[in-house]
Amino acid sequence: MLSDIELQLLKRHFEIQGWDISKQEALKNSSVFVAGAGGLGSPVLFYLAAAGIGNIKFCDRDVVDLSNLNRQILYTISDSGKPKAHIARERLLQLNSFAKIQSLKGEINESLFEDEHFDLIIDCVDNFETRHLLNKISIKKNIPLLHAGVTEFYCQVTLLIPGQTPCLACFLPEGTKNSGKGIIGAMAGIAGSIQALEAIKFLSKTGESLVGKILFVDMKNISFNTMNIKVNPKCKICSHLAR
Ligand SMILES: [Zn+2]
Repeated sequence: MLSDIELQLLKRHFEIQGWDISKQEALKNSSVFVAGAGGLGSPVLFYLAAAGIGNIKFCDRDVVDLSNLNRQILYTISDSGKPKAHIARERLLQLNSFAKIQSLKGEINESLFEDEHFDLIIDCVDNFETRHLLNKISIKKNIPLLHAGVTEFYCQVTLLIPGQTPCLACFLPEGTKNSGKGIIGAMAGIAGSIQALEAIKFLSKTGESLVGKILFVDMKNISFNTMNIKVNPKCKICSHLAR
């Protein structure tokens, strides 16, 4: 049930053709786990809270560093040295005090998913080791995984659904190393905004999702391309699943 203030906060949603109270209530009843509250996590968390997602849990191990601030829009210079998990939760509750927002300062591990149900895991981490851990949790717990990666002027986004689409390991080999390249902050904003929008669409059953295909964005040359991705029949992580 949405309060009068929530309906005012979300007024512009209801001006979208095809949007109705059932879609908004679906968002309110959704539970999302966001892995990381950095360059991708900042816009993802911001837009999910602003869109009226009812239950958001997120995890980040780091404190705010000045070099984060070109892209991590939940933080300011005065937050330097403070845990991102705590600062981000305060900011998000200022935006949407009607949501249940839980934050954890620490590493991602499987035990975080033992006693709670999530409709979606959003991959906003900055390293491939943790991405593959999220992929294994997604397969084991049967939770869709919304993956994104971003660097310089480029990003990729796809929605991975256990038993329906390939998993991350089908197309991104384990052991892949970070490029160590830089990033323009607005690019993290684009990638995170696409992730947030895909999450909102998926949870409200609206439009077409990035299921079975991966979106590549090249903003240096202004191109958006999607490519179909296929299950690797020899994948060690997901090939046992019936499809
Ligand atoms: Zn796989």
